[in-house]
Amino acid sequence: MLPDYHWHTRRCGHAAGEMEEYLDLARAKGLKEIGFADHVPMYWLPAGKRDPGLAMSERELPIYVAQVTRLREENPDLTIRLGIEADYIPGQDEALRKLLAGHPLDYVIGSVHYLDDGWGFDNPSNRGEYTRRNLEEIYAAYFFLLQRAAQSGLFDIMAHPDLIKKFGYRPAGDLTSWYDQTASIFAGAGVCVEVNTAGLAAPAGEIYPALDFLMLCRRYGVPVVAGSDAHSPDQVGQWWKEALLWIKEAGYKEAATFAHRCRRMVPLE
Ligand SMILES: [Zn+2]
Ligand SMILES: [Zn+2]
Repeated sequence: MLPDYHWHTRRCGHAAGEMEEYLDLARAKGLKEIGFADHVPMYWLPAGKRDPGLAMSERELPIYVAQVTRLREENPDLTIRLGIEADYIPGQDEALRKLLAGHPLDYVIGSVHYLDDGWGFDNPSNRGEYTRRNLEEIYAAYFFLLQRAAQSGLFDIMAHPDLIKKFGYRPAGDLTSWYDQTASIFAGAGVCVEVNTAGLAAPAGEIYPALDFLMLCRRYGVPVVAGSDAHSPDQVGQWWKEALLWIKEAGYKEAATFAHRCRRMVPLE
């Protein structure tokens, strides 16, 4: 069974349920390997400007680490990984490196949720902005930032790599050249691509990334991992059959797993 490497916890302020419940659901769904990957503190903002509804505080990070470590000891029947989902903010590379250093993370998932000007484009309350901006420019800014994130060397896995389609706003033109360029940069940077099923619940109605994009990743030799982006226990391993089909359809024969930020490939079932 494909590991599910992308779970949130109540600490981020917008997820529900106890961590133990996530594990119960994983067992019920037959998952053997899973990973918590909660939102990293909003390290690029001064403490007073952070939104407790979007990410854990810096004070909570070591508690999160301890909690996942404890769950691992208490649940030896599951392989539990300690991950984190970290926003890429240009110019803040060192701040993020410092924040993550010293924690025994198994992997770091890199995300772009904000464009250069701070617009949190995947937040439903900011959705109106899509109708005020040029879609070609929005997509260009998104992919450019995602490429820089991959090249930063901070991340093992690039999350939901076409999240910009979340609300279903798509430019008229063909996106192949963005997909191709980004897949090639992922390969050069040595990062994995994440197949994230949360896109199926969003207005986009499609797994992240689009199949054409994933096929290009496979062609360039970018390894794949999967995540449900669960924000509540019932979303654990959600659309897992679809995720596996998507990955196979793109031509993959194996998926990546992580321990202590080292990658190992395992064959798909
Ligand atoms: Zn995300
Ligand atoms: Zn997430």
